[in-house]
Amino acid sequence: MARQSQTQLRDWWLSHCGWCHREIGEDEPRLAAGLKFSDPKDFRKARGRAIEFKLASGRSVIACGVMAGSQSKKEGKDLLVMVCSEECREALSTAMYEEWEMEP
Ligand SMILES: [Zn+2]
Repeated sequence: MARQSQTQLRDWWLSHCGWCHREIGEDEPRLAAGLKFSDPKDFRKARGRAIEFKLASGRSVIACGVMAGSQSKKEGKDLLVMVCSEECREALSTAMYEEWEMEP
């Protein structure tokens, strides 16, 4: 997925679960899992961009940096990942916390 363009990455991010990679249909519920960088400097590089994170298991997680001044940022979130269920949100938050030191 590394060679994909920003546009492709963003499209994928919006339409798939960031944890189980299932495609989420138009009329299906989707949840946003918010994450926060441990180092605020990382947010500057990530804002408004889709980014891929690699986990030790080989799984990749596509997240998108929120915009400065957005509602999510005001709520203390730097990145959002779309997920299909509470279970996926839970698993994703745990993995990102353990491997990337990101707070849910
Ligand atoms: Zn899922």
